[in-house]
Amino acid sequence: MLRMPEFEVHHPTTPEEAVALRAELPGSMYVAGGTDLLPNLKHRLHEPPHLIALSRLSGLDRIEQDPDGSLILGASTPLAALAGSELLAASVPGLVEAAASIAGPQHRRMGTLGGNVMLDTRCLFYNQSRPWRQAVGGCLKKDGDWCHVIGSAKACVAAQSSDTVPMLVALDARLRALLPGGERRELPLLELFSRDGRFEQRHTLPPEALITHVHVPSPGAGHRSTYRKVRARSAVDYPQLSIALAATLEGERCTALQVVIGAMLPQPRPVPGLHALIGEALTDEVCEAIAEKAYKAARPQPQLHGEPSWRRHLCRIETRRGLQQLRSGPQPR
Ligand code: SF4
Repeated sequence: MLRMPEFEVHHPTTPEEAVALRAELPGSMYVAGGTDLLPNLKHRLHEPPHLIALSRLSGLDRIEQDPDGSLILGASTPLAALAGSELLAASVPGLVEAAASIAGPQHRRMGTLGGNVMLDTRCLFYNQSRPWRQAVGGCLKKDGDWCHVIGSAKACVAAQSSDTVPMLVALDARLRALLPGGERRELPLLELFSRDGRFEQRHTLPPEALITHVHVPSPGAGHRSTYRKVRARSAVDYPQLSIALAATLEGERCTALQVVIGAMLPQPRPVPGLHALIGEALTDEVCEAIAEKAYKAARPQPQLHGEPSWRRHLCRIETRRGLQQLRSGPQPR
């Protein structure tokens, strides 16, 4: 049996109090739903003396829409609320699909948007029990100095495995965070992620930063979005690869398009070079050209289950399927 390490739990009631506690208590960690963190504690990936529970923070569990149509998502919003939101289904259906694809119903009721955005990176050499990791001498991300995936001591390529993140990046979402001293910061979500998958290095914000909201710009008329997730089981599993697609269609013409690859590297990867195809109708030929660009942009590593060449191949297939879905539905309700 894997036992939980000992820690003290603190229950702040305001974001300011939470950030102050996090700054005051060395080695402390935030915990929201705990669906990812608590198994990681059992695996002794972290042994924090203090956990700062975010469950009693008020006012951060709402989905709101500004008069301009943009969406303000509180970081404490349960994933189940995102998956069941009529407002989101009517405006950004891809985000509803992404939230609904996360784990199982119990996890989605406990897990929060903020927790999913801040999810630790994953790797076959890291998400293991301590005896397993000790048997291979640890690795650069935990208790070692060597990356078994790329055979080097230079970098950790553990995968950013959140389902909401690629979709939110495709939607041009921005993060709002509170820092010690009352500083508030807003940044494009994509800029949160570094190229280094190690726990302390994976984000560009300081560890005390508390995500308070995610801002999704108004999707506007003609918006279409969808989320494609490849996983070993059809339920309760992390992605082996994901493709998030967001487009604006005017009649048959595509006037805006974002395709973002997830679960591949420590950063989500927007497919480059799509501007050349803007203004075209999403014919089979154009869909194929976009799928080819996704294939070329994909660099999966053997850090997750599934041969990298197979996962790369699926990048092309899932992009094509997603584009075909955008052409014919799902439409915003
Ligand atoms: Fe460790 Fe390398 Fe996996 Fe990172 S990618 S967790 S360093 S084995």
